Amino acid sequence: MLRPLFLSHGAPTLPLEDVAARYFLEGLAPTIPRPRAILVVSAHWETRIPTVNAVEKNETIHDFAGFPEALYRLSYPAAGSAELAERVVDLLGDAGLSAATDNARGLDHGAWVPLMLIWPDADIPVVQLSVQSQLGPGHHLEVGRAIAPLTREGVLIIASGSYTHDLSSWRGQQGKEEPEWVNEFADWFDEALREGRTCDLLAYRRLAPNAQRNHPTEEHLLPLFVALGAAGSEASAERLHTSTTYGVLRMDAYAFGQADDKLTTKETKS
Ligand code: ZN
Repeated sequence: MLRPLFLSHGAPTLPLEDVAARYFLEGLAPTIPRPRAILVVSAHWETRIPTVNAVEKNETIHDFAGFPEALYRLSYPAAGSAELAERVVDLLGDAGLSAATDNARGLDHGAWVPLMLIWPDADIPVVQLSVQSQLGPGHHLEVGRAIAPLTREGVLIIASGSYTHDLSSWRGQQGKEEPEWVNEFADWFDEALREGRTCDLLAYRRLAPNAQRNHPTEEHLLPLFVALGAAGSEASAERLHTSTTYGVLRMDAYAFGQADDKLTTKETKS
């Protein structure tokens, strides 16, 4: 089984920054089996029903504004995979979930920022899967369970979001110590993941301290539920990395389920 991953992609400038989360991603590839293809669930593609892109070659979408010029020159020209896109639509259909294909869309920065750091050669085919922010965690867990067979077909599922994501205060918090309301949420979520308390996780908006403040909208946490679901009903969670950027954006990363080849990574911290 290729363990599904949840990665926090941070600000689009991550590939240019001198921070621990960037170095964690740059060191990740040698610690996991090389996948045949990658399916990225990105917080930055929101659609009404699950949608996969089916293109020959992925365009790099610079879906942000007001960042340094160097960022707009970065590209990640990975091949797509019509075959994997079709497989995803079929698996979702088998589970009773309607899904669609998009024949034009490339990769947004939720996909290409982490991929560029992990596999800079862009030589593994990549397909992207959207989120449905109006449908909540339960729907995304279901999507994950539907695509679970991919983890035994050489496909690495990467859920890309942000472990905490309050963008109203990130600029003001830069360089300051992480506030308690971020820690409290992150600690609660980590404990629930490690203990496999899926029911509590699904109800995190009610149960986790400061959930609303750390995720004013849910789209950056919803990919995590896809990765969790894809690892199976008894999924265990292993934290691979924890750090903070801009004072309030936690960059934590997790692997879910049992690996055939156990990850050799030690958890890294800033
Ligand atoms: Zn983002």
